[in-house]
Amino acid sequence: MIDDLLTMIPGPTPVHPRVLKALADPRVAHVTPEFVETFSTCLDDLRKIIGGTNVQPFILGGGGTLSMEMALVNIVAQDEKVLVISQGVFGDRYADLVASFGIDCDLLQAEWGTVVPPEELEALLAQNSYAAVTITHVDTSTGACAPAADYCALLKDREEMVILDGVCATVGIPEPYDEWGLDVLLTAPQKAFGVPAGLAMTFFSERAVARRKELEAVPAFYGDILRWLPIMTDPRNYYSTPCVNQIRALAEAAKLILEEGLEARYARHRRVAKAIRAGLDALGMKLFTSPHCLADTLSIVLYPEGIDDAKFRGAMLERGIVFAGAKGPLTGKAFRMGHMGIIDSAEVAKTVHAMEEVLKSLGRRIEPGSALAAAAPFLGEGE
Ligand code: PMP
Repeated sequence: MIDDLLTMIPGPTPVHPRVLKALADPRVAHVTPEFVETFSTCLDDLRKIIGGTNVQPFILGGGGTLSMEMALVNIVAQDEKVLVISQGVFGDRYADLVASFGIDCDLLQAEWGTVVPPEELEALLAQNSYAAVTITHVDTSTGACAPAADYCALLKDREEMVILDGVCATVGIPEPYDEWGLDVLLTAPQKAFGVPAGLAMTFFSERAVARRKELEAVPAFYGDILRWLPIMTDPRNYYSTPCVNQIRALAEAAKLILEEGLEARYARHRRVAKAIRAGLDALGMKLFTSPHCLADTLSIVLYPEGIDDAKFRGAMLERGIVFAGAKGPLTGKAFRMGHMGIIDSAEVAKTVHAMEEVLKSLGRRIEPGSALAAAAPFLGEGE
């Protein structure tokens, strides 16, 4: 087992011992040749992982929200207009963020638990044009996975820059950079990367970097990619002190990802999601999210009649498993379970077994071992 306390939440996710060791490294100076080498290798490995032609990574202290901000302010001018496609809290956050910079914004919003149909985007694009379109790949509040390939196909060969929020997806669900024609992929380390929170991670296309160069000034100082470009192409340079140990941890996680292989990692995420869902089904627990847009990285699980949120999650915590509460209108009616990063069969088995015990203790009638038996076919390597 990875940890005494198993964080089955949609981020931060459990951390591999090799990543923990990198975090604990007492060498904290950013100027040593060893760190410069680690940072360079990390950037090269991230280029391999993210793919795409001449994609430029920017890795700095911050979080997913700073990544969102950087993606926007570096490529959109004040007098331009943005389209935000939202299927939950984090899409809505993008619309707020755009508005807070005084930038005009149209919002395509899906009903909670579903996604905006591509036809709606198509109809809007037939009448309008934008400087950029933002897509939340997986919204962590609703568990809904956007049909990003379909949206991107509609945006291909158009002027709009495509910004993809991959915070709850990157390295857990495929995001083919060139095929989708992305301009900024933004993400964060604390979910499918399996690194503690603390970094903003953005990946700019050549077109997006060129766009930043065209803009005379941007409403950012720390988050201005042009100030970071010399560091991201040669980490011997200085702009703002890099968070040395976070970057070491990310470098180690990137190695782990390349060792596992991206296709194998995506397959593991698919298999783990199937195992969890088979177990939930056997327990009589239903998913909130529409079946056509389920994400492999998390599940939003509705409580059956009579199960209290605080009691259920409290009892799970006593068994060493952390679940997250649901957001917005689902508060108290559902819980959120992450199953991404390094989570694999052992963690799924522990979680499913504990849920079975907890539900029984709360008065549900459950056939002992039934949930684990339902999950079992997906717990082997080559399901
Ligand atoms: N986008 C999505 C899809 C998220 O799930 C989150 C965080 N849960 C964010 C953005 C914001 O990331 P952070 O909390 O690191 O600022």
